[in-house]
Amino acid sequence: MSKDDVVLRVDNLVKTFGALVATDHATFEVERGTITGLIGPNGAGKSTLFNLISGFYEADSGSVSVNGTDVTGQEPYEIADHGLIRTFQTPRKVEGMTVREAMLVGPRNQPGESFLKLFTAPGEVGEAESKNMDDVNRILEEFEIDHLATQPATKISGGQMKLVELARAMLSEPEILLLDEPAAGVNPTLRNKLAEQIRRLNEQGTTMLLIEHDMEFVMSLADPVIVLDQGSVLMEGRPDEVQSDTRVIDAYLG
Ligand code: ADP
Ligand code: MG
Repeated sequence: MSKDDVVLRVDNLVKTFGALVATDHATFEVERGTITGLIGPNGAGKSTLFNLISGFYEADSGSVSVNGTDVTGQEPYEIADHGLIRTFQTPRKVEGMTVREAMLVGPRNQPGESFLKLFTAPGEVGEAESKNMDDVNRILEEFEIDHLATQPATKISGGQMKLVELARAMLSEPEILLLDEPAAGVNPTLRNKLAEQIRRLNEQGTTMLLIEHDMEFVMSLADPVIVLDQGSVLMEGRPDEVQSDTRVIDAYLG
């Protein structure tokens, strides 16, 4: 892979929690334009890896680079500025907000604080914020969830919330989007919709790194697929190669 084709490089990342080695010299690259799958048994260290890459956890050692820039040790919002955005396995509860308002809240402290300004300095709500609102409305339409815009965010279904999460992440126009189990707990109809949206965003140029437990979901979307086991990369390959690899089967059978 030439240097320009690599949007994310993870090099020998290590993260321990006490005696537990959650990430054990994890090393891989994500090629621009791909939907790269990241699978592995429960507890393999997938979410930890996302936390390290996006700056929510600090690695013991190793490095992460985004678009050729070393972002190791940077804050989540700084990494977001380099074009890397992630979603969370469990979306945050957004009490007292409509879906449209919730869209403007940065995913935790990533990417920004623009929404807070709407409340703390209402007089200063200017061009940037109203452009923001135009973007929100456009993205809600693109995701076909504009009919939910004025619903209380706590009243929509878990599956709809996952779509809102994806839509919200796209507001920051990431170059690479890290999705942590987007289909978990989502009913089959919405799951298809989610897959359709992920494919559409990818075709429009967003690179994806996709953690997913649902094998059918990940294997139909991702190529290549990286397999993580006990914090290290066990193998990487095409979906059919991964599914028939005995090491992978063994890892899942534990
Ligand atoms: P996965 O997402 O692949 O299921 P995780 O990355 O969530 O796995 O967890 C990997 C291991 O690290 C697990 O044993 C988990 O209990 C542990 N772990 C994750 N986060 C923490 C934390 N903040 N403190 C202590 N242990 C953690
Ligand atoms: Mg996880």
